[in-house]
Amino acid sequence: MANPKIKSSAQTVKKSNATAGRKPAGKSLYSKADLEEIFRRFSVQRPEPKGELEHVNPFTLVVAVALSAQATDAGVNKATRALFAVADTPQKMLDLGEERIRGYIKTIGLYRNKAKNVMALSEKLMTDFGGEVPRTREELMTLPGVGRKTANVVLSMAFGQATMAVDTHIFRIANRLLLAPGKTPDEVEQRLMKIIPDQYLYHAHHWLILHGRYVCKARKPECERCVIADLCRSPEKTCDIPAPLIELPPQVIGAEAAG
Ligand code: SF4
Repeated sequence: MANPKIKSSAQTVKKSNATAGRKPAGKSLYSKADLEEIFRRFSVQRPEPKGELEHVNPFTLVVAVALSAQATDAGVNKATRALFAVADTPQKMLDLGEERIRGYIKTIGLYRNKAKNVMALSEKLMTDFGGEVPRTREELMTLPGVGRKTANVVLSMAFGQATMAVDTHIFRIANRLLLAPGKTPDEVEQRLMKIIPDQYLYHAHHWLILHGRYVCKARKPECERCVIADLCRSPEKTCDIPAPLIELPPQVIGAEAAG
């Protein structure tokens, strides 16, 4: 999961506000009814959205998310399939050792540092948490290589808590659509958590990521394929007619992830 490009998106906010000239930065332009309708449509499209990082238990999820910084989910999955087949617990990871971990993940960017972190977080899990992945954000963030975003992904995907892990796609969408404009991922996280209707909060994280990855793409949003084109208030949109609202087939990881 790549990190938000804060500078360029912050510039987009500035430009968007100047263009729109509607409300001060930080305020969502969407009414409660708009927000209900936007997330209702996402829920029809993808009733059970899933994260695209492969894992077999909470521990392998922590490792996969830590490896995904500045990398694509598809690239991480290719490397971790073989790694998790031999090491799916902190102890097995420690037994494998840093050098062999490096061998498994060398196709992923920053792999030397990441191999170090995987060893260090496995060690910490063994010494401080009895080999179990902790269930609070504060404890998760004590693990080497685990920041707020990673902790939020783990709380949501492994433990079913409603969180908003702001990645590059969510950061872009929140600002581009003036949905929850913010200069930092933390600001965007707080605003999204406030405005998203409760009943949609649990899946909202994945809906926004998938919408950003496959439709509202970074370089050029594909507005003619967008189910919320009529509701979207982005100055960048190129079409007002929403795409037909139908349930989508299961995700094909990495198939259209460019952009
Ligand atoms: S209409 Fe275009 S800019 Fe708006 S959410 Fe859809 S794809 Fe993104």
